[in-house]
Amino acid sequence: MIPVTTLSGKKVALFGLGGSGFATARALKLGGADVTAWDDNPDSVTKAAAEGIHTADLRTIDWSVQSLFVLSPGVPLTHPKPHWTVDLARAAGVDIVGDVELFVRERRAHAPDCPFIAITGTNGKSTTTALIAHILKSSGRDTQLGGNIGTAVLTLDPPKDGRFYVVECSSYQIDLAPTLNPSAGILLNLTPDHLDRHGTMQHYADVKERLVAGSGVAVIGVDDSYCQIVADSIERAGGKVIRISRRHPLADGIYAEGSRLMRAAAGAVRAIVDLEGIQTLRGSHNAQNAAAAIAACLAVGVSEDEIRAGLASFPGLKHRMQPVGRRGNVVFVNDSKATNADAAAPALSSYDRIYWIAGGLPKAGGITSLTGFFPRIAKAYLIGEAAAEFAATLGEAVPYEISGTLERAVAHAAADAEKDENGPLAVMLSPACASFDQYKNFEVRGDAFVSHVAALEGITMLIGSATGDK
Ligand code: ADP
Repeated sequence: MIPVTTLSGKKVALFGLGGSGFATARALKLGGADVTAWDDNPDSVTKAAAEGIHTADLRTIDWSVQSLFVLSPGVPLTHPKPHWTVDLARAAGVDIVGDVELFVRERRAHAPDCPFIAITGTNGKSTTTALIAHILKSSGRDTQLGGNIGTAVLTLDPPKDGRFYVVECSSYQIDLAPTLNPSAGILLNLTPDHLDRHGTMQHYADVKERLVAGSGVAVIGVDDSYCQIVADSIERAGGKVIRISRRHPLADGIYAEGSRLMRAAAGAVRAIVDLEGIQTLRGSHNAQNAAAAIAACLAVGVSEDEIRAGLASFPGLKHRMQPVGRRGNVVFVNDSKATNADAAAPALSSYDRIYWIAGGLPKAGGITSLTGFFPRIAKAYLIGEAAAEFAATLGEAVPYEISGTLERAVAHAAADAEKDENGPLAVMLSPACASFDQYKNFEVRGDAFVSHVAALEGITMLIGSATGDK
């Protein structure tokens, strides 16, 4: 836990008592702030009060004496409209921040030089964050991993010299962190997403840009036009930029050439690493993630040898194209996180011959956008409510069966793959659907897949009970 010492003795209002909000209230109290917390959910308020956190309806407090207002990133700051607490804070002229800002202030106060890598982007944030933390940890560095990836940043160990922080930031967290100043900041990519919370693409891009604009070194994926503009404008303003690309060579920066990642600097180009054979970093999207991780690690003083070793031993993240078992020339892959067609596309593009388990609660558009991958699919095993709709889209193009349940799908796919001599093969759960018709969430669905795979005769599991970093 990081005590928030920078607000010691000050009155602070806080709204949102979910996981990170609750941790923030405790960190503020521990640091000596006089915090008043509230949530729309009475159960959360009761729980906080039981922990000794002072609670009060923020409509009833004296806003004129509050030094700061801390808002949970899940609560609307701007779109679709500001939360009522935001209106009250603004009317009283009280600054509004989130937990990442409190962390940034603590670091600045106590260990301003401790390396801090912050990661954002539309896709690949968690993978890149976990990969960087893995490289740092496996090179023996004192490493703290948190933020949007699931561990509230204020629950980490306090900043001190020589300690490394790797923090995933959603756009909401950046919006609430006005003085965010990582040693190295990563902006992976920008595509339209969460526009319900950001209004326009331009506003979304502007928010994301702030993370890299405040960085010592800005690592930017320049494969989309928004990020290209961001890289150019930071450079024009005198910032240090390292460009990365998964698609094309760069005069200066790190880019993918097939499975090799190349480093171009001062007119010289050489390969840093070949990702071929690293199961957890398959696919061109992972080349982008790995290139960003390399650039950031180099920026904070990690050697190329240490980086290569970390990349090679990366265990991958649970439920994201995670190789979980192997039998003969068949690898079993858990991509349960792919809850829509766009998210399933990278996994389908990463294997040449796939026994594909798909279905669940369908999203608008179904799998029509995935037809380009159909030639890679040896057979599809359809489950859940989407089965009939997906069967209609597959039509004559792909052999399929309606398996109904995940258990039956795994058994049938494994048996069919075993008879197939055109390896290497993947039996992959990449459902392109939400899970709620059959499971509580995508994690439970992924865990069920893993246990059905583990029950197969002759299987070698590639993961232990504690898998991935998330
Ligand atoms: P995020 O944390 O940004 O949601 P994750 O690392 O959890 O991203 O990856 C989620 C899914 O997004 C992956 O399963 C994969 O399908 C896809 N993905 C991962 N990295 C990238 C990338 N660099 N570009 C596009 N898609 C990606």
